[in-house]
Amino acid sequence: MPDIPAGVTIPVFDLHPPELSHRLMTWFFRNRRELPWREEHDPYRVWISEVMLQQTRCETAAHYYRRWMTRFPTLESLAGSDQEDVLKAWEGMGYYSRARNLHRSARIICENWGGAFPDTEERIRSLPGVGEYTAAAVLSIAFAKPLGVVDGNVLRVVSRLLAVGGPAERSPAGRRSADQGHGGRRSADKDQGGSRQTSLAALKRLARAFVEASFLDFHPGWINQAWMELGALICLPKPVCDQCPLSYSCRAYREDRIQEFPPGPVSRPLPVRAESLLLLLPALHSQRTLQAVKDWLTGTREHKTVDPASLGALLRRHDLPLLLVRRAGRGLLGGLWELPNFPERNEELANRVASLAIKILLDTGQEVRHRYSHFEIRFRLLVAQFRKQQDLDSWTEQRWVLPSDLVSYPRPKVHIEAMRRFGLIEK
Ligand code: SF4
Repeated sequence: MPDIPAGVTIPVFDLHPPELSHRLMTWFFRNRRELPWREEHDPYRVWISEVMLQQTRCETAAHYYRRWMTRFPTLESLAGSDQEDVLKAWEGMGYYSRARNLHRSARIICENWGGAFPDTEERIRSLPGVGEYTAAAVLSIAFAKPLGVVDGNVLRVVSRLLAVGGPAERSPAGRRSADQGHGGRRSADKDQGGSRQTSLAALKRLARAFVEASFLDFHPGWINQAWMELGALICLPKPVCDQCPLSYSCRAYREDRIQEFPPGPVSRPLPVRAESLLLLLPALHSQRTLQAVKDWLTGTREHKTVDPASLGALLRRHDLPLLLVRRAGRGLLGGLWELPNFPERNEELANRVASLAIKILLDTGQEVRHRYSHFEIRFRLLVAQFRKQQDLDSWTEQRWVLPSDLVSYPRPKVHIEAMRRFGLIEK
């Protein structure tokens, strides 16, 4: 424990900002991680990195950032690209609305403002998907505007330093739905509903004021990054207080109440959606191919074991296409390509697809699963065939695609896993 005289309490903000900031910045310049965007002050690059870092681990974001900058090195190159190329570059990172918003925003900046990146809070926040967090991060790092950035890491650090925002200050309802914020920049631009909103919003305001009070003569972009880095490396959910440059003034540490701040995550089981996903074959094909599929089905039934991967091998050998469908451009996974899927299972599914002239050939009994932030999807894998080809109106587009061409389409993670399971693409 630091050497604090008995009976001394440190009121909020009585933390000697000059010493606090100098200690923080000394620690930061010695210990910060090398990241591809770290030395960047170009607003386009800062913006891309900040959007990628939301909901994505730093190492993963670094990989995608390098690839993105090769593919879209400038705002103009992003604005001039097709949405499908943008989604493909984003494939695997999830939360695809981020990619669609980047693309739309780049077009707005180029078409309306001559390609000049906005340098005011009002203008930058008018762009799709840009909230308080992203605006403050870009404006402080790229334009040295004195705006504090508060992500989950900063919230945790400030909450502990000041010993505020813990259970004692919350109503029972607020306590139940406390912040999930151990995940870095998670939910940085959005408060999540309910009664928790008030106390979390108050804590965010306090944290922002606290960070802004620490700027002094330092570049706001650097000091913002220093606070975030302290939360990412030292003031972790399980903090490493003996390496913390600010332990001398940390109230939660002094009072041995670290685990009270910020309030812990509430684990509620995610709702599960049990749905069906089809490897859908065409109605008409060469006799030889159809016979091969028939033999595979007969063999599968006789042996009473299903190896979906061997079906993919067969499709590849015979150049047999399968149906790929495209989601509408907005909403979750909007604009991505996927295997046809339906919310029903069993008899309900059979009835639904029968009305679309689809026949279920085989239920593999296998599932692929994926957890989104608000639900878990479980797709049962089935093999099916059109009796008579027709359009499936739940999707905006549909295409017959050879297995070897699947990789060129931007696809959700769970569908990539299903394609692997069916042996359509490599492991
Ligand atoms: S002393 Fe510990 S709890 Fe306090 S800010 Fe430092 S790492 Fe976080």
